[in-house]
Amino acid sequence: MANAKGVRACQPCTACCDGWVQMIINGVPVYPGRPCPHSTGQGCDNYQHRPIDPCGNFNCGWILPDSPLPEWLRPDNGKVIVIFNKTRWNGLPVDLAVPVGKKIPPRSLEWLKKFSAQRMRPLLYTEQLVENGLFQKQQQVFAYGPPAFQQEMQRMQQEGEQLW
Ligand code: SF4
Ligand code: SF4
Repeated sequence: MANAKGVRACQPCTACCDGWVQMIINGVPVYPGRPCPHSTGQGCDNYQHRPIDPCGNFNCGWILPDSPLPEWLRPDNGKVIVIFNKTRWNGLPVDLAVPVGKKIPPRSLEWLKKFSAQRMRPLLYTEQLVENGLFQKQQQVFAYGPPAFQQEMQRMQQEGEQLW
């Protein structure tokens, strides 16, 4: 939601605190299906003292002051968290999109792919793996962009290399 000065605010989104981004908070692993212990479901119960890393440094693409993401792509609405410049490939910035839920909805993914093609920003996006009704820590990763980028990401995955 934008305030009078056009600065966005998270509320009512709590997607990153709800575990859709994997992180460790004060030694506690947070991942899909396991929200941060400080998340009330409506915010942080210790916001003033939240860790600098990862909370203070978290670069949610939607909340950035100059974010190119439209209002409707707020993570709780668009069901995707976008992290710009997660890595680089052949001199190009590579963005990462992770779903808020099992997978990124078609409307959001189409928007991100169009943005990727128009701005020459290769895109990595993920889908949650589910076993016995439970989200797994491991995610399936897809690459969108130049064929050479897709091929290299596929090779790296097959060889067990870190993509970012
Ligand atoms: S995902 Fe982005 S908009 Fe949502 S709570 Fe986290 S920082 Fe705020
Ligand atoms: S400590 Fe607070 S701000 Fe950080 S992930 Fe947990 S609930 Fe969110």
